[in-house]
Amino acid sequence: MLLRKSYFCRSNSKNVIRVLDKSFEVFITKEEIQQEIGRLAEKINADYSNSDLVFLSVLNGAFMFTADLLKSISLDCEVSFVKMSSYSGVDSRGQVDELIGLGNNLAGKDIIIVEDIVDTGITIDKIKSLLEPEGVASVKVCTLLYKPDAFKGNEKPDYVGFSIPNAFVVGYGLDYNQKGRNHDTIYQIREQKKHRTSMLNIVLFGPPGAGKGTQSERLIEQYGLIHLSTGDIFRANIKGETELGVLAKTYIDKGQLVPDELTINMLKAEVSKQSDPKGFIFDGFPRTIAQAEALDALLASIETSITAMISLDVDEAELKDRLANRAKTSGRPDDANPDVIQNRIDVYKNETAPVKRFYEQQDKWVMINGIGTIDEITERLFATVDSL
Ligand code: AMP
Repeated sequence: MLLRKSYFCRSNSKNVIRVLDKSFEVFITKEEIQQEIGRLAEKINADYSNSDLVFLSVLNGAFMFTADLLKSISLDCEVSFVKMSSYSGVDSRGQVDELIGLGNNLAGKDIIIVEDIVDTGITIDKIKSLLEPEGVASVKVCTLLYKPDAFKGNEKPDYVGFSIPNAFVVGYGLDYNQKGRNHDTIYQIREQKKHRTSMLNIVLFGPPGAGKGTQSERLIEQYGLIHLSTGDIFRANIKGETELGVLAKTYIDKGQLVPDELTINMLKAEVSKQSDPKGFIFDGFPRTIAQAEALDALLASIETSITAMISLDVDEAELKDRLANRAKTSGRPDDANPDVIQNRIDVYKNETAPVKRFYEQQDKWVMINGIGTIDEITERLFATVDSL
């Protein structure tokens, strides 16, 4: 058994994956899993050399572990797949447990229950009690993962791959809401590394199409921040046909910046709507030095400041490709017209890029590579934010 606390080295597997709304980072690599399975199989081969052995694999989680383990078992054995099911019975016991798929005659046979993970041990105890009437010769448990801190069962598992802390893990058969079973690596949920006492205020910076909106969604979820996108707020106003929206539209449709006064007042109003935020992601703001100065003053008035400006670096050809693609689904008129796109990129270079120097002078500017898969860029972003 290996004690696994955390993982620090790099491997061939992706270091961070997304499963539904959560991020997970590598915990046990495929190489380590396979090596440990080889060791477990060797031990079982030695312990059961003269035995009528049946492996009972517990679905769904143990399917991958069972398949790999059995490839290294050299004994003349059987394998069955079972599933625990609980339903509300009509008798006084209330809950009734059933082991589905227990077809074979198991009398007199040695059983090894194969589990992907044993945490509380309740399932294992139930399976053992359901096997009692079958008249089996012996029952042992082989599990890839074991959580000693969560265990409340009667007997500890007999064969354990990795003893792990009480963390949430996915991959290699283990799921999060039925997803994530298909990975060959085991991942653990990615916790925010630092407990911050002050607000985390990030300016997410980059030209149009750099991926600020997509990455903001992930930052919000990971760090619990309020997302303020001036572009989104303008678009909501245009949709609602407000006075601000009608005015802003005349600039936006040409790819020009909306005047500072309007934009700054709008942002101030949005910031003041939030009570006790953990922090903000400013997306698409500030785009001029006047806006940057106004933002500093606004944050100072609520006794906080910008933690960092993070720039997503993407070259112009890639930006144009992305915007052309986004135009197919975004419904944004300013994405659909190549002249407007060019104008937005030029405005960024001439009017917005100097904002970078404003934060550079305050030693708050960080650039990350904005080319790669969405997950790869998220990984770089999280690593940067965790280091702030
Ligand atoms: P975005 O969604 O950030 O690409 O913004 C779309 C458009 O909204 C921009 O091209 C500008 O016309 C306008 N806009 C968004 N944010 C600002 C800002 N901070 N200052 C001026 N105009 C802005």
